[in-house]
Amino acid sequence: MADIEVPVLIVGSSLVGMSTALLLGHHGIPALAVEHHRGTAIHPRAAQITQRSMEILRIVGIEQIVREKSDEQFVQDGAIMAVETLAGKELGYFIANLNEGVRDVSPCERVFISQSLLEPLLKSRAGELGAELRFATDLVSFRQHADHVEAVIRHRDTGETDSVHAQYMVAADGAHSGVRETLGIRMQGRGVFSRSVTIYFRADVSSLLRGRNLSVIYVNHPQLRGFFRIEKPFTSGFLAVNAIGDPAKPITDVATGLTDERCLEWVRLALGSEDVPITIDNVMPWNAEANYAECYSQGRVFIAGDAAHAMPPNGGWGGNTGIQDAHNLAWKLAMVLRQQAGPELLDTYDAERRPVGTFTTEQAYSRYVTRTAPYLGTDGMQPVAPDLNVELGYRYDSPAICHEGDPGPLHENPRESRARVGTRAPHAWITMSGKRCSTLDLFGVGRFVMFCGPKSESWTKALLAVREAGRLPLRDVDVYGLDTPGFDDPEGSVSEAYGLTSDIALIRPDGFVAWRARELPGDQDAALAAAVKTALMRA
Ligand SMILES: Cc1cc2nc3c(=O)[nH]c(=O)nc-3n(C[C@H](O)[C@H](O)[C@H](O)COP(=O)(O)OP(=O)(O)OC[C@H]3O[C@@H](n4cnc5c(N)ncnc54)[C@H](O)[C@@H]3O)c2cc1C
Repeated sequence: MADIEVPVLIVGSSLVGMSTALLLGHHGIPALAVEHHRGTAIHPRAAQITQRSMEILRIVGIEQIVREKSDEQFVQDGAIMAVETLAGKELGYFIANLNEGVRDVSPCERVFISQSLLEPLLKSRAGELGAELRFATDLVSFRQHADHVEAVIRHRDTGETDSVHAQYMVAADGAHSGVRETLGIRMQGRGVFSRSVTIYFRADVSSLLRGRNLSVIYVNHPQLRGFFRIEKPFTSGFLAVNAIGDPAKPITDVATGLTDERCLEWVRLALGSEDVPITIDNVMPWNAEANYAECYSQGRVFIAGDAAHAMPPNGGWGGNTGIQDAHNLAWKLAMVLRQQAGPELLDTYDAERRPVGTFTTEQAYSRYVTRTAPYLGTDGMQPVAPDLNVELGYRYDSPAICHEGDPGPLHENPRESRARVGTRAPHAWITMSGKRCSTLDLFGVGRFVMFCGPKSESWTKALLAVREAGRLPLRDVDVYGLDTPGFDDPEGSVSEAYGLTSDIALIRPDGFVAWRARELPGDQDAALAAAVKTALMRA
């Protein structure tokens, strides 16, 4: 008999492990997460939170508080641009305003909030939803059995160990994942291209900003390549340094033997001013790399976050991609644990998330090359895709997605997906019982949503028929059409965004389109029952 029995054990409780615990809690699964560190992140690291991640935080009820805290820390809606030095020459803008031109696609906005501020919010909500987070606790070992995972965890201070019996284990233990190594899962990709550092400093740089609202400032100085992020009230921030010296043949190990004097010299150089007093608070080494795991699961163990894909911060996607891994996995684990879905549904985690992780890592690499390290060359590099396509326009393909022939591109402008099978169901503003909300607010726990076009009454009848006959594995397929009580779409924005007329779109609990029935097949009841069974991988 083990000391602790839990449905899911999570290894690592930083950004991604904590998100996994939170999302499992949201789906009613009380997970245990163990974390080596004594508390939540102390280094800011990730700060750019995409609309997709904010949509996920909205679903679990913390969008508003995250927005409030983000405003305290950073000026929002800033630019992503490049300079020779902060005081000196501007070299160009990649994005002039973080949210310009993207507000129509989501109920949420991109925000800047660092991990050190975000993690306590995730922690507190995860706790409310039933997760247990144990800090200063290491996973020591684990073994997989046919029907469970057996693990040993140890408290770092007391040395006390506990045995854990879990149905499943999620490893969110970072780029150097010990679990991934134990499983023998290899990384592939472009390797490590810089031993970089982040230098945390204090300095009043307000005069150097000259009123500009800048979120990420790339520094392309003849002697240094990296980027700044500056916090409100513009008296602190960090400089990440990736390379120094000759831009054509730079030194890329900037971490080894680094001294405080050198850090000071670099910050001064990148600021482009001798007049601003600077204090160095901290230095954190990290590898700039673009690598992805050859598979995301083995048996009952899943890897997520940096354990599955390690990418350079250019683009701001490492943490976001991990949050989306957690989101894809959590509802599947919950429904399999409740026996609402077949265990094969869990195999679709790898099939759906790995191509997205690989694509996003390559896109981050392309930005690293074009923004910071042209010396790496563009041979074999993916062309830079628009940020919005990377963040919201990715598409899943797996046996649980009922594709109609060619699944289409892996990524596209989310405005063009029109609820194509495998893509994120689009956002449209609707009214529910007199209250304005997003279509995304309807997707939820253990429930599929069926949107019907204006001429699709026969589908509603089909749904009622299969429910009555007990042919659906789920009681909870919510149907929304023009005649649904309380559902109001006066401007037809759902039909427009989803491209619906006489057809339907079946949406999974994670807000991805599982099935479209564009034409009326002979037996609609049977087609619908079969689609739900496929989406849940039920025999
Ligand atoms: C300078 C910089 C800027 C960045 N900016 C952004 C950004 O703007 N947006 C973005 O999305 N991403 C950004 N990133 C990337 C982001 O920080 C990472 O992708 C993210 O932190 C990964 O989270 P994780 O939880 O997967 O891994 P980690 O944060 O590495 O956490 C893994 C955790 O597992 C714990 N652990 C490991 N082994 C064990 C064990 N055996 N037992 C218990 N615990 C264990 C570790 O202590 C650690 O806390 C940035 C990174 C850097 C370096």
